[in-house]
Amino acid sequence: MFYKSDIKFTDFSELVNSVRVFTNKEAFEEKSELHHRNIALQDPKKLLLDSDGRILYRLSNGEEVKIVLYVDYQHFQNNYYPHDTPIENLNRYHFYNCQNIEVIYRNGYRPSGTTREDGAFPYKFLGQFGEEFFATQHQQLLPCEKCLDIFNNQHKSNLGIYHFKLEYLQLSE
Ligand SMILES: [Zn+2]
Repeated sequence: MFYKSDIKFTDFSELVNSVRVFTNKEAFEEKSELHHRNIALQDPKKLLLDSDGRILYRLSNGEEVKIVLYVDYQHFQNNYYPHDTPIENLNRYHFYNCQNIEVIYRNGYRPSGTTREDGAFPYKFLGQFGEEFFATQHQQLLPCEKCLDIFNNQHKSNLGIYHFKLEYLQLSE
């Protein structure tokens, strides 16, 4: 025979379990999106920093993963051909809480996060009014110089923007 309080407890733990299954499924999907593509980081409060100042993203199950942050779209003049743009003029990716992150949010840009390490970033080339000229899943981008300075300081290295590799960030750890 059950006491009333036992029944309540049983109901409650079932609820907790179903919520946990749901959040794990959601977290698995988020992880997969981060690994293969990217996730829009609309809410700066979902971003965290580790003790080194590296940018972390909190998954829906509470797990924190290291990410790279960048703006995955860029506006251009009309009659423009994306392949003409030198890589230096495209958005940079960030991995520390550098001054540019605040500027990105303050200027109304909506950054994305990714844990891809192959250097192929999803990227959209847009017209002045937001019309899509061209989109790719494989845009090469350069690291932010401010973030790279912090990295070099922490690792006593002297890597330049063309020699830095995403795998140094150990995003999949
Ligand atoms: Zn940066």
